[in-house]
Amino acid sequence: MLELLFLLLPVAAAYGWFMGRNSVRNEDRREQEEFSRQYVTGLNLLLSDQPDKAVDLFIQLLDVDTDTLETHWTLGKLFRRRGEVDRAIKIHQNLTSRPTISERQRRLAMFELGLDYLAAGIFDRAEEMLVAMQNDKEFAEPCQRYLLELYESTHEWDKAIKVALKLARHDASAEPLVAQLYCELASLQDDPEYSEKYYQKARKHEPDNVRAALALGRMWYEQGAHSKAQKILTGILDADPAFISEALPILQACYESQNDDAGFIQFLHKCVSEANSTTAAMLLSEAIAKTSSIEEAEQFMQSALLRNPTMKGFHQLMDFHIRAADVGRARDSLQMLQRLVQHQLQQRPKYRCRHCGFAGSTLYWHCPSCRVWGEIKPITGLDGD
Ligand SMILES: [Zn+2]
Repeated sequence: MLELLFLLLPVAAAYGWFMGRNSVRNEDRREQEEFSRQYVTGLNLLLSDQPDKAVDLFIQLLDVDTDTLETHWTLGKLFRRRGEVDRAIKIHQNLTSRPTISERQRRLAMFELGLDYLAAGIFDRAEEMLVAMQNDKEFAEPCQRYLLELYESTHEWDKAIKVALKLARHDASAEPLVAQLYCELASLQDDPEYSEKYYQKARKHEPDNVRAALALGRMWYEQGAHSKAQKILTGILDADPAFISEALPILQACYESQNDDAGFIQFLHKCVSEANSTTAAMLLSEAIAKTSSIEEAEQFMQSALLRNPTMKGFHQLMDFHIRAADVGRARDSLQMLQRLVQHQLQQRPKYRCRHCGFAGSTLYWHCPSCRVWGEIKPITGLDGD
């Protein structure tokens, strides 16, 4: 209701000026009477608790001139923010059609109208407005940012890439975004040749892009190019150590297919020392149990847990204790405890967005909550890896 009062101010001012003129022609008198009638109707609607109708009427009464222009901009934005997009559209459409406003103000109204359509989900009209405005120097960058938002909503990745490339020409920080968009396009291809081509393009724009490395590693492994897959996947440890646990299952298969167990053990040690990876420590402990003894594996897991305590690692340690224990009550209790820990682990999210804190058990590259790209990573620490 407060906003309505401030909407009334310019209308009331206009009313006072209109009524206070000394010499009034007949034509003006009729206009005055009409204005008075509508003003009173608006007030009545407001008093009879019909603010929606009152707002529409007051907007009609607001003539666009230099005095009320600011009110139009503020009201337009206010309505859009409140989700009353149809009203915002009315205001901005009204502005674009007024011959009295300057060219710059007309363009600003077109830009605002584009944002109204975007907020209303009328994507074709929003696109039309924003595309037309992106050649205007003053509006180019914001138009491109909103167009990106639009193409992300409509999943038109090829169009999104074109816009992001324009942004990256002036702003190198947009390069990782270009890479993510190429990954998105790659993931939708049926032909592996095209998938590979787009993932490679992603890596050109962001050489450390983990998403492309993981996808190419998987693809090459499935095609039988094990050594090539191994090379790109081991690179993830330097590119972003938080993701190495994601690559370890395929890496294990790559090393195994080349009968290089020693190479894999060496790499796992590197993952433990450089990335504190619990998954790597668990795989190492299993290798120790296989080649030496359960006791040695237990000792290794204990020292790994002292360096990096995690629930996952604790679960693995309990597993060794159970395997070494004699059949009896102690072993039953351990098994029950392990099941409890297992249950807790299944309840915990695996990934968290570093931008907004959104957490879940699926790895999204585009955060469903804050819409930021590449900020969701595997959780580390007690509940994570
Ligand atoms: Zn987020």
